[in-house]
Amino acid sequence: MTRPRSQVDAVCQNPKCRFYLKEDGKNIIKSGKYATGHQRYYCNHCDTYFMETKGTPLFRKHLSEPEIINICKHLVEKNGVRSIERLTGHHRDTIGVLLEDMAEHAQKMSTYLIKNLNLSQYECDEFWTFVKKKRKRLSEKARLSLKLVTPGSTQP
Ligand SMILES: [Zn+2]
Repeated sequence: MTRPRSQVDAVCQNPKCRFYLKEDGKNIIKSGKYATGHQRYYCNHCDTYFMETKGTPLFRKHLSEPEIINICKHLVEKNGVRSIERLTGHHRDTIGVLLEDMAEHAQKMSTYLIKNLNLSQYECDEFWTFVKKKRKRLSEKARLSLKLVTPGSTQP
């Protein structure tokens, strides 16, 4: 059996898949297009088709996945935006936009953090509380999205 392998940017969008949003070890191929003209992808791990990953925090910005993971690790350790700027060399605006982006996709991002950074639910809650504190001017969308992942259990 031959498996056509072309370089694709997409990562699996199936939350039940072991390779959900994972770059390493993924096995994604392009598989035709949807009627809307969107590229269709197929994950060989979970046998699932999905649409291109527009709007996913990991791919909307000009940061690679290892860089995003690196920034997240610093955030988990409660480093401020300015110190992360110093540690990673990314401009604080880039980091700020990433925070906003992650907040807008908070539920998806939580799953990602738990799976790929091995965060516990508690650490995840702490992460969002920290993001909220660091990013004062969040968009309406981001604030609503954060409300869903930070229940009343995380009082300041
Ligand atoms: Zn998959």
